[in-house]
Amino acid sequence: MKWYQLDVEKVEQKLHVLSTKGLSLKQIDERRKQYGSNQLESQKHTPKWLIFLKQFQDFMVLVLLAATLIAGLLGEYIDAIAIMVIVLVNGFIGYFQEQKAEKSLDKLKELSAPMANVLRDGKWEKVPSKEVVVGDVVRINSGDRIPADIRITKSNSMETEESALTGESLPVAKHASAIQNPELEAQDQANMGFMGTLVTRGSGIGIVVGTGMNTVMGQIASLMANTKKQTTPLERRLAELGKILIVVALLLTALVVVLGVMQGNPTYQMFLAGVSLAVAAIPEGLPAIVTVALSLGVQRMIKKKAIVRKLSAVETLGTASVICSDKTGTMTENQMTVKEVFLNGKHLYVSGDGYDIRGDYFLNKTKVNRDFPHLENMLLYGMLCNNASLFVKLGKYYVDGDPTDGALLVAARKIGLKAIDSENYKIIKEIPFDSDRKRMSVVIEDENGMRLLITKGAPDVLLPRMAYQINGNGRALLRKEEKNKIERSIDSMANNALRTIAIGIRPLSSNESIDAAFLENELTFVGLYGMIDPPRKEVKSAIEECRQAGIKTVMITGDHVNTARAIARDLNLLPDRGLVLEGHQLNKMSVEELEDVIEDTYVFARVTPEHKLKIVKAFQEKGHIVAMTGDGVNDAPAIKASDIGISMGISGTDVTKEASSLVLMDDNFATIKSAIQEGRNIYENIRKFVRYLLASNVGEILVMLFAMLLAMPLPLVPVQILWVNLVTDGLPAMALGLDKAEDNVMKRPPRNPREGVFARGLGYKIISRGILIGLVTLIAFMLTYQNNPENLVYAQTMAFSTLVMAQLIHVFDCRAENSIFDRNPFGNLYLVLAVLSSILLLLIVIYWPPLQPIFHTTDLALRDWLFIGALSAIPTVLFGFKK
Ligand code: ADP
Ligand code: MG
Repeated sequence: MKWYQLDVEKVEQKLHVLSTKGLSLKQIDERRKQYGSNQLESQKHTPKWLIFLKQFQDFMVLVLLAATLIAGLLGEYIDAIAIMVIVLVNGFIGYFQEQKAEKSLDKLKELSAPMANVLRDGKWEKVPSKEVVVGDVVRINSGDRIPADIRITKSNSMETEESALTGESLPVAKHASAIQNPELEAQDQANMGFMGTLVTRGSGIGIVVGTGMNTVMGQIASLMANTKKQTTPLERRLAELGKILIVVALLLTALVVVLGVMQGNPTYQMFLAGVSLAVAAIPEGLPAIVTVALSLGVQRMIKKKAIVRKLSAVETLGTASVICSDKTGTMTENQMTVKEVFLNGKHLYVSGDGYDIRGDYFLNKTKVNRDFPHLENMLLYGMLCNNASLFVKLGKYYVDGDPTDGALLVAARKIGLKAIDSENYKIIKEIPFDSDRKRMSVVIEDENGMRLLITKGAPDVLLPRMAYQINGNGRALLRKEEKNKIERSIDSMANNALRTIAIGIRPLSSNESIDAAFLENELTFVGLYGMIDPPRKEVKSAIEECRQAGIKTVMITGDHVNTARAIARDLNLLPDRGLVLEGHQLNKMSVEELEDVIEDTYVFARVTPEHKLKIVKAFQEKGHIVAMTGDGVNDAPAIKASDIGISMGISGTDVTKEASSLVLMDDNFATIKSAIQEGRNIYENIRKFVRYLLASNVGEILVMLFAMLLAMPLPLVPVQILWVNLVTDGLPAMALGLDKAEDNVMKRPPRNPREGVFARGLGYKIISRGILIGLVTLIAFMLTYQNNPENLVYAQTMAFSTLVMAQLIHVFDCRAENSIFDRNPFGNLYLVLAVLSSILLLLIVIYWPPLQPIFHTTDLALRDWLFIGALSAIPTVLFGFKK
């Protein structure tokens, strides 16, 4: 017998579990031991030794190693060993960087790992999906990815999309009854839910019958192709650039070697110098450092509650020019409180805050109680047509479920209605809420078998479906003027920033069809709720900061246009002339028509998720880089189409999270702003160290080239060049990657996404500083050499020190887009430490006698240092003053 052929009771028996209680903790332990964790065997990690070896696969490094080997064979032991050690150390550094990047990416994966709702020991809890075991009772809602293979025990109009398994993208309706046919394929097992497939509608409960590799997905997982490591646009651009730079560096070093040989330097010595120079000058490590900088940035974003799912998003964030954000829950707290109800043609005010159950109903300042006509019924209906529950923790009330539903429970509680009061009714049908329909319905049956449909939802959607109103103990026709009055009430509540909900009912005789298509019509109007959802405190200033950063914020909501407008005004998001568009207007507009007005539009109200796609497209057509938030299943297409898809960590569904490139752990709009800020900063930091590294390399090559042109001896020996590559180019460049943002990162317009690596004067800066660094090094060398032609080592030590110092001073210049004097040089502690330790290492190789023969150095006097200091400051200070 297969699972789908069994009744629910049989399944429960076989797995020793009750679907009302779930497994006990002891059972869970046993089963985890028995079946292992609920994970597909993912691709294997590259072994560590291979990552280490990969550091040496670079062509020039191999040439260098070969050259060193020859040098060793020819008897140049000291040089050979020194070079080997430096290359090894370099390899280790590369290895550790790569490890670090990989770890932070793993951590990310863990943070965004899917969760499952399980019933254990009678309590619902959220656990990581990989901890689900066979026999667990799981609850799934629209938007969830099913965590394991389950036999469905309850389905509220649940539909799933199983294309991952079957290739069929039409949703399949799911039910809970056994199916007899013994030979059904997965796609026809309508009472089963399969791991990895999506719930597109409704909700349900099921018992886990298979986990991990023992699922239908597990059987095909082994066939699935390995995913490639994704690279970001910047990494690709730098890799391209790297190729060009390699050619340039090789040509220049070849020139140095040829010139050197022509000037009479020994061929072998020139060859080794040339190879060392090539190794130092070729920025082969650039893409790797970029990855490290990106992943470090990712970690900083995590601290600010933003999880990056795609590394490329870090870059794209800095280019965002429009943020389209949901209102409810992202700009607002998503803590709803009913403040007002309208029934019997009267407005009642409700006191109390948040989900606190203390509060009363007032009519014109006089308290009313539960026998106010129809009040109790209205509140009871609100409780029955509801998916949330209230719970107390440490004396405080919380809502489990949709906050809108929760607010109705609290409102009912304020006249004394409790969960028990709804237990006399059986819910025999539920049509779930979704943002397209903007309403939810249940059919209830009381002890006497009397049936009643209760519908609650957006008032302007329900009103056309209302034909009657409550009257005495029965109903009366809803006439035009009463409809108008209700509409005025909706408007006035919405103008006060209240979110509005209407309740309607319809008595059903027991033989009447409860087919969803015909139910929600001819309703009897009962009343309206108006609930407040206060804006989050941080949002107003975050919107303002975005504005200063040249980023427009747009509010998108399913709420009433007046509610949206009122809150937008509160948040200072809607300028005086800003437009507000409604869903029904969008329906009539083509994307082109929308483009004409979209620059002036700040609020979209009563929209459905499908509209979001149109909005994204129109902004993109206008040349914008769009960040779009979303939480529900239907938001996924718009999130995918946007440049930066953003999903909600708390209220978001698995589908939207998977489609997004950024997840907000706290659902908060302000977090988007922080992420953009961080994204801009990371990009600037990458520019900083590209600038630093390339200027250093230009300097290194030029000093050699100039010397050869002037028929001088080698100003730097191979080990010195390699040492510079390792120490000076290594530590400070890393520290630049950790630099703080300049004060004005959020005061300038977004970066043009098409700008190249050398945009905004970077190329000029690199060349000009590089030339100067090369020149001052050459001057140090020439002057010393001319005064002491017999002491080459002294001149080389001077050149070496000048080169190092010039770079270490220049690194501070790289921190500022304009002038070095704009920034506090001690602002980046890492950099100060990196520079200090580089200087210390320099002093060690110069003064420590055992190292002197290895690095071809000799003691320098204070006078020499003054000279070095003055020369090496020139490249930086000269340009610093120019501004
Ligand atoms: P938002 O984008 O602001 O979250 P929704 O699409 O969730 O908007 O809601 C739109 C409207 O649907 C609300 O203004 C409200 O009238 C109605 N509504 C919201 N939640 C529920 C619910 N749980 N049950 C019934 N109606 C709801
Ligand atoms: Mg909502």
